[in-house]
Order: sequence, then structure tokens, then C-alpha cells
Amino acid sequence: MQKGEFLYEGKAKKIFRTSEPGLLLVEYKDDATAFDGRKKGTIVGKGAVNNQVSAHLFQLLEQHGIPTHFVELRGDREMLVRRARVFALEVVVRNIAAGSLSKRLGLAEGLVLPAPVVETYYKNDALHDPLINDDHIRVLNLATPDEVQAMRTMALRVNEILVAYLSNRKIRLVDFKLEFGISQDEGRLLLVDEVSPDTCRLWDQDTGEKLDKDRFRRDLGGVEEAYAEILRRLIG
Ligand code: UDP
Repeated sequence: MQKGEFLYEGKAKKIFRTSEPGLLLVEYKDDATAFDGRKKGTIVGKGAVNNQVSAHLFQLLEQHGIPTHFVELRGDREMLVRRARVFALEVVVRNIAAGSLSKRLGLAEGLVLPAPVVETYYKNDALHDPLINDDHIRVLNLATPDEVQAMRTMALRVNEILVAYLSNRKIRLVDFKLEFGISQDEGRLLLVDEVSPDTCRLWDQDTGEKLDKDRFRRDLGGVEEAYAEILRRLIG
């Protein structure tokens, strides 16, 4: 498997072709952004942590029957993934109020929600990734109603698996963002992108300490240490 032509650079990752048409190489970067790209910085070691945490959680999810794009790790900051047609949607699942939900609905950060809340956002930089509902998704032709339903069901199942797994490691899963795609070869729904402290809110179960990107967003200090702590609790 040869690393091929550079394809695309996102805020946190670079994507390369490989000698295998159905496979891509993802390189995780230390670059960090927040607030719609207005805040920029570097979190030393983040790329390696997010690569390894994502690989670990993708494997866990696969073991529980969730199809993901993950194929294998390629060193510290690279992973091989299946090529997919990615939906222009972010699916957020929330167990505890925080971030934009707290702001939008006036809910205190830390309020335990009576049941998980699923939200969909339109991935569109020019529009600043707005919250959208199923009817908007239909109007914009972003996914079929069946695909939306399948993503919602899969997101809730991912939530159950991750909540149980992380609570055994003294971590509360507050909320997280998922992305989905349709695999190029078999046309099945796949979990893609990453599952990491960049895309999840993770709080220490005993102290409530934030162990995720909110430390960077809110200038709380100890950013690198928090990412390293998540890697340690998951992988040892
Ligand atoms: N999230 C993400 N990428 C985004 C927006 C949100 O990974 O572009 C994650 C974020 O880390 C959190 C969850 O989705 O775990 C919910 O984020 P929220 O809507 O509260 O947005 P925020 O206030 O963090 O921008």
C-alpha cells in the first residue's frame, strides 16, 4: 500500500490517495481551530492522540456491529480508511447539556438530559454549519429520509456503546459529533471522520474536569495533558 497524491486538507486532517482506489490515508494534524475557525492554535501531540483514540474507538464500535471506515493504523498519526461518499451533515448526540445546546435553550451546562438528544447540522462553512431538521435535509437533498433515520439509529447505538465503555474508564460522555458516508464498494452506511477529544465532550466522572477540546476553546490550560490523559485511560 503506497501513500499517493494529496487530495484534501481539512482543519484537523489531511487526506491522501493510496495505490488502492477504495482506500484513503488520513493524516491527523496538531492544528486546532474553534469558533468557526476564528480561533487557531496548535495542540502538541493532538494528531497522534486523535489518531490512536479514533482507531481504538472505531475498533470498539466495529466489535459491537457498527460499520466504520477504519481499516488499520499506519504509524502514530496516520490511518487507512475505506473511501466513502460523505454526507454534508454532522450528527450530534447529547447526554448532558453543554456548548451550543446550553446557549440555544438556556439550559445550565451539566444538566443531565432525560434522554439523549440527536441534532443534525449542515456542513457548510459559508453558512456557519447551521442546525437543520429533517425537512431541511430533504429540501437540500443532503440525504434520503431512510438514510437520515439510519444515521439517527446508528448514532444512538454508538452513544450507548461509548457511554458504557467510557464510564468504565471514569469518563462521562457529555456529547459528541459523528459523520457518516456511503461506502464506495458496497454502498452501505459507514461511520467516518473521527471520534476523539476534538469531537467529543469528555468529563472526568469524579471531578467533572474537562478532558477535551473545550480546554482549548475556553483557554483553560492543560490542553496537551487532557488529550494525553484520555489516551492513557483508553489505551494505557
Ligand atoms: N462538534 C464538533 N465539530 C463541530 C461542532 C461540534 O466536533 O464542528 C462537537 C463538539 O466537540 C461537541 C459536540 O459536537 O462535542 C456539540 O458541540 P456544540 O454544538 O455544543 O458546539 P460548540 O459549542 O462546541 O461549538
